[in-house]
Amino acid sequence: MNIPKTIKLGGVRYAVEITDKLNLGSANYSAEIDYLTLTIRVCPTAPQKQEVDFLHELLHAIADHLGYKDHDEKKIDELAHALYMVIEDNPALFSPPEKAENLKPSKGARP
Ligand SMILES: [Zn+2]
Repeated sequence: MNIPKTIKLGGVRYAVEITDKLNLGSANYSAEIDYLTLTIRVCPTAPQKQEVDFLHELLHAIADHLGYKDHDEKKIDELAHALYMVIEDNPALFSPPEKAENLKPSKGARP
């Protein structure tokens, strides 16, 4: 998985920064989302931790876009870890079609 420099969601583009300068402080948090400046900040931790943290903040952005204001941190974090697991366990999922041959059903396979 690659953490992008920006990500477009719901018609707006969030900047994604890898930084230890969080408005919430980096002592107790490893990432944050700023809905006013459209910025996701992820602390420079281990790469896999950064990716899960990025997905966590992305899920906050999705929930916000859908109109949910009080996000359940436990559910957001569980979904982030579950999504990370699916993405990591299925690397061809977002690959171009020629690289995703294993996603197609084999001949004779039933739907
Ligand atoms: Zn959160």
